[in-house]
Amino acid sequence: MGNIDTNPAPNTVSSAPAGVPVSIGHWIGGQATAAADGARRSPVYNPASGAVTGQVELASAQQVDAAVRAAAAAFPGWAATSPLRRARVMFRFRELVERHADELAACIVAEHGKVFSDASGEVTRGLEVVEFACGIPQLLKGEFSEQVGTGIDMYSIRQPLGVCAGITPFNFPVMVPMWMFPVALACGNSFVLKPSERDPSASLLIARLLREAGLPDGVFNVVQGDKEAVDALLAHPSVAAVSFVGSTPIARYIHETASRHGKRVQALGGAKNHMVVMPDADLDQAVDALIGAAYGSAGERCMAVSVAVVVGDIADRLVERLAQRVPKIRVAQGMDRAAEMGPLVTRAHLEKVRGYVDAGVAEGAKLVVDGRGLRVEGHEQGFFLGGCLFDDVTPGMRIYREEIFGPVLSIVRADSFETALRLVNEHEYGNGCAIFTRDGDAAREFAHRVQVGMVGVNVPIPVPMAFHSFGGWKASLFGDHHMHGPEGVRFYTRMKAVTQRWPAGIRAGAEFVMPTMK
Ligand code: NAD
Repeated sequence: MGNIDTNPAPNTVSSAPAGVPVSIGHWIGGQATAAADGARRSPVYNPASGAVTGQVELASAQQVDAAVRAAAAAFPGWAATSPLRRARVMFRFRELVERHADELAACIVAEHGKVFSDASGEVTRGLEVVEFACGIPQLLKGEFSEQVGTGIDMYSIRQPLGVCAGITPFNFPVMVPMWMFPVALACGNSFVLKPSERDPSASLLIARLLREAGLPDGVFNVVQGDKEAVDALLAHPSVAAVSFVGSTPIARYIHETASRHGKRVQALGGAKNHMVVMPDADLDQAVDALIGAAYGSAGERCMAVSVAVVVGDIADRLVERLAQRVPKIRVAQGMDRAAEMGPLVTRAHLEKVRGYVDAGVAEGAKLVVDGRGLRVEGHEQGFFLGGCLFDDVTPGMRIYREEIFGPVLSIVRADSFETALRLVNEHEYGNGCAIFTRDGDAAREFAHRVQVGMVGVNVPIPVPMAFHSFGGWKASLFGDHHMHGPEGVRFYTRMKAVTQRWPAGIRAGAEFVMPTMK
């Protein structure tokens, strides 16, 4: 594996020569790496046109080993760098991300398909975690107790773990890696990122910006790949901790496998987020919220609302308004500034989502808006699906139980608050949820009793800010720690408690009993 172009252009819209798929490789030890002979590859698509725009190399176990070794070699020097100086690298990285925000967003649009304004929002939400990490000297402050015994002091500190790995999903190729590595690096760890093979290019741009910010070579590495690369990371003896975000079956596998190999793990899984609409809710506000939260990013968000549980007699009016609005959502390629919704990520995913719509019809749900016939002029080969709306969905149906991850909203009608709450609590997933109401008592009761990690009150997508932590409950998270914020700092550090006495202190002589302080 040799080094090539030290300043590779990521596979952005502007840099890919028309019709020629670019080669997308790894970033190891501060440099882009050339393709290995006989490497396996996977196509990367522009979802709006359906064209293959890149070929991403899928790392072998040897390439993963090279990345982990680079990270392990860089770790001692980076860990010994003062938190203040690590924070200064983060400050410079923050400036660079802001300067390159449009380039990053265009890179997301080119491979994921979401609309440019949404991709820009993704970059901003990632940037906020970098800003949080800039405060690392304050965040790493330990605790000190003077005179815990006569002449004896004690302090607790948090130290980095070593090499941390991040395995990320396709739906946020910038933000989700940024939930992880800014905090991990600021805490003094080195990092190996394994991005989604479906939209891998943004990770290489991030790597370049980190180098430009002054991050020493080897502290941040990228290995592209699939299960083979992931398994190599999970089993590697030099990887201390694994952060994962993706679907629930893989999250469960990551948690079990990495735990078996003695690693610290946080594995965030899939979702089926419910929004409860109470009869007293502001109808206009609820409709706007559902349109944005169900169909934004074509429903490919872990916090997308995919079920509306509508309580009482407001249901008919809500469905009627939604039925008018959904067909009017402007679906177009993501760089079209008027677009509100782009294509799905791949043809395979499009077929999967379409299959769920077929299944919903077969199971007897009422398809009020059918987006399956949508054609986007000039983009007939793109992976587009129009917004779909189901009414009269019941808990036994697959479209209710399973995560669809597409622009499909299910309406479930409930007779009371208690029924609505029970539905949310009995669902397998517990990532996010929301209640829309004007009744403070109902909202408080809901927030208190609901078995879900992130709760919105008249807020449809309650994604916590960077200085709080992000994570779900039940089948939406395996492990103990949520991501970024204070939980991120705890995950990426381990605690050490030091008890000290100096020779001038009182001499106690040899002690044969359990030590107690005098
Ligand atoms: P995915 O589970 O298919 O892939 C996630 C990562 O795991 C990728 O890097 C992929 O290469 C790797 N992977 C895939 N199959 C693997 C296997 N068999 N063994 C080892 N590694 C494997 O998820 P996706 O389709 O990329 O992303 C969508 C999913 O992610 C949805 O379920 C969504 O809800 C979830 N998600 C959750 C959150 C959250 O915060 N809970 C956030 C974003 C996305």
